[in-house]
Amino acid sequence: MSAHSTAQNWIKRSLIATRALDVIHRLQRTRVAVLMYHSVMEEPERHATTLGNIIISAKNFRRQMEVLARDYNPLSLNDALQFIQGHKQLPAKPVVVTFDDGYRDNAEVAAPILNQLDIPGVFYVTVSSIDRAMPPWVAKLRYAFSTTGKGAWGGFNGDVYPLATSGGRERAFTIALEHCACLTGRIQEGFVAEVERELETGAMPEESQLMMTWQQTRKLIDEGHIVGSHTMSHPNLAHVQDDLELRSELEESKRRLEQKLDSPVIHFSYPCPVLQPHWSARTVELCRQLGYSTAVTTDPGAVSEGDDPLTMHRVRPTRDIDGLRWNLECAFLGRPLSK
Ligand SMILES: [Zn+2]
Repeated sequence: MSAHSTAQNWIKRSLIATRALDVIHRLQRTRVAVLMYHSVMEEPERHATTLGNIIISAKNFRRQMEVLARDYNPLSLNDALQFIQGHKQLPAKPVVVTFDDGYRDNAEVAAPILNQLDIPGVFYVTVSSIDRAMPPWVAKLRYAFSTTGKGAWGGFNGDVYPLATSGGRERAFTIALEHCACLTGRIQEGFVAEVERELETGAMPEESQLMMTWQQTRKLIDEGHIVGSHTMSHPNLAHVQDDLELRSELEESKRRLEQKLDSPVIHFSYPCPVLQPHWSARTVELCRQLGYSTAVTTDPGAVSEGDDPLTMHRVRPTRDIDGLRWNLECAFLGRPLSK
């Protein structure tokens, strides 16, 4: 760590510890910080070739939740919606805890911690992944490019991408991600299967264990949490050209979830694989037409009264407590978030 960043961290910690920011909070308008988590695991390192860096350890997650329960005001997404619409006042430092993708560990590791601390959660699930007990395509491609013994990948456009160096592998993986992010349903599945075949990696070994079951989603509802849609097949919706496919990702996932959960599904989370933007005026209008009340993005920042609830910003937690506190404080103050 450089002397510069050590000094920066000291200043951040001091500002938080002296509660200097609390004074500023009282003078500021209220903002809600919607935190975005993915996977919460006991041993994140075991899954680096599939989920990469979207895993937080169970130990760190528990510490973060304890801090939220003690020093912040965790609330339900429905309360946040009421606040955005001007129907509800909120206490200071309100936070909403959300999870994307629908990993099994959300139900088995994260939810018990939330339940203990009385923190309501929002779980956005990728419907086809739950249906088939297979992780979203990003994990499958990461596994294929991380574990293949092949020296090159033939790509999809006539170019050949060497895989001998880690830089080459990373580049090929990125090219595959950018291509696949625009695909949906069967075409997307076909592309992933072709990559797996060419790279001779076969299916992921643990793929049947990574995703939540429908029974687990229902239990989350029974425990008072919210389950929302994260599309059918996890494309980047802003880059899906076909109107019918785009509509189906939003509509079919909502219909399927409502059927499986036997309750209305009004909350949505935009997948954000690799490309930006990951939402557009067209996707927002479609969300509105189809009856979604909120949609969260991965755009950084907090949510204020009067914002469009269909393009809500979120805050990325960092792995350490100081980083989490700093990102939350910046969000509450309406400041750009530091990395
Ligand atoms: Zn996702």
